[in-house]
Amino acid sequence: MANYSKRTPEQLKAMSERMSGVNNPMYGKRVVYSPEECKRRSERQMGENNTFYGKHHTEETKARWSDIRSERVGEQTNHWKGGTYVKNHNSSERRFIFREEVIKRDNNTCQMCGVQNEKGMHVHHIDLDNSNNDINNGITLCKYCHESTGLHKKK
Ligand SMILES: [Zn+2]
Repeated sequence: MANYSKRTPEQLKAMSERMSGVNNPMYGKRVVYSPEECKRRSERQMGENNTFYGKHHTEETKARWSDIRSERVGEQTNHWKGGTYVKNHNSSERRFIFREEVIKRDNNTCQMCGVQNEKGMHVHHIDLDNSNNDINNGITLCKYCHESTGLHKKK
């Protein structure tokens, strides 16, 4: 545009009119879509020309997601079943209650030697089944009686 400053106002005006009028190279080429054209283009974008067409939400993909979900649920289920934490938590909770009940029933007294010890009392499973936390299966023993019987070492 080296000659720009040398153009006369008339020339500039003529140029302006040319650029804004029918002589504008872009005239008639301006991208103006009718609503129908917009809709048509939109549908085309949603169709097979869309890059993701056929790659989204196919049954195969859904099945794969389902498998992944199943695997995750399965892991959680196995974890729950094998579920050392939850199982032991409930078990220890039951054993705690069992122990408290037996000691209370036996008045915190060793049922073999009659010793009373608030902190050191053991609750022995009479049938040797540690999972049988029925209060009638429990007997309060002092630490020494319990260990001397050796019963607590047996299953
Ligand atoms: Zn005792």
